Amino acid sequence: MRIVVSGAAGFIGSHLCDRLLAEGHSVVGVDNLLTGSLRNISHLAGRADFRFVQEDVTKPLRLDGAFDAVLHAASPASPKDYLRHPLETLEVGSAGTRNMLEVARRWNARFLLTSTSECYGDPLIHPQRETYWGHVNPVGPRSCYDESKRYAEALTMAYHRTHGVRTAIARIFNTYGPRMQLDDGRVVPAFIDQALRGQPVTIFGDGSQTRSFCYVSDLVDGLYRLLWSEERYPVNLGNPVELTIREFAEHVCRFTGAECALEHRPLPEDDPKRRRPDITKARTLLGWEPRVSLEEGLRLTIEYFRSL
Ligand code: UDP
Repeated sequence: MRIVVSGAAGFIGSHLCDRLLAEGHSVVGVDNLLTGSLRNISHLAGRADFRFVQEDVTKPLRLDGAFDAVLHAASPASPKDYLRHPLETLEVGSAGTRNMLEVARRWNARFLLTSTSECYGDPLIHPQRETYWGHVNPVGPRSCYDESKRYAEALTMAYHRTHGVRTAIARIFNTYGPRMQLDDGRVVPAFIDQALRGQPVTIFGDGSQTRSFCYVSDLVDGLYRLLWSEERYPVNLGNPVELTIREFAEHVCRFTGAECALEHRPLPEDDPKRRRPDITKARTLLGWEPRVSLEEGLRLTIEYFRSL
């Protein structure tokens, strides 16, 4: 099949391209390199089944040929990146999603939106199920990301209902692995970088807030299965093992072999206090669940960051 991937030079987008190519599909990757990096796809250069187009999907798109599937993975995704680029973040969720949906409509292609657990905001229900409508501050600093993705979900459902596009929506929880940007501010690269440099590990707040971390190959497998399913409503994809940020810091220190000092910094505004996906739906519908343990995933990720 011929598949277009927006955000192809990003962390998840580039791993998606690898998986699609490994499955024998041909891929057109689109990225404006706002937060993505050509280094993430440099290993694909010269392949006959991969083409990279440096374009901004929020502008009218010039993509030639028919497509069987459209994967919309373009967006700044780390809090540091979307706080620095709030307007671009809103634009890629709105105009960008619409343009990608139009590509899917034009070619009668399947469409997959990579949405986010941020749709649940700072959740009042725990763990989060897809039926929960969320607790989002619509005007806070994170709203440019949260509301952009919520709008993207609404637009996707509207295209399905109005035009019959075969859409799918993945709500992605915290994901980590090689090709995350070392300086994107997210907790996984930040802690590994600090531990490897022998610097204090910066814990925001008291470190009692929780997250659950999914290794990227597991996540991509879930996305791949979801793309071919007939489910139109959102599906959570993430790892259900929940840790406090303090526990996570201790794991990173142990696995890097570093003697870590912990340094507390103020908790960012609207930082969700608890987050863990209920993945019953993905298990039942897609036969999917994460396989890579935190220990194994961190070993691979630390190896990657060490090589940088
Ligand atoms: N965090 C931290 N220290 C850091 C970076 C992040 O304690 O140097 C915390 C952050 O406050 C949040 C969690 O780690 O509670 C995950 O943050 P991240 O930016 O990775 O993603 P989020 O889940 O908030 O989108």
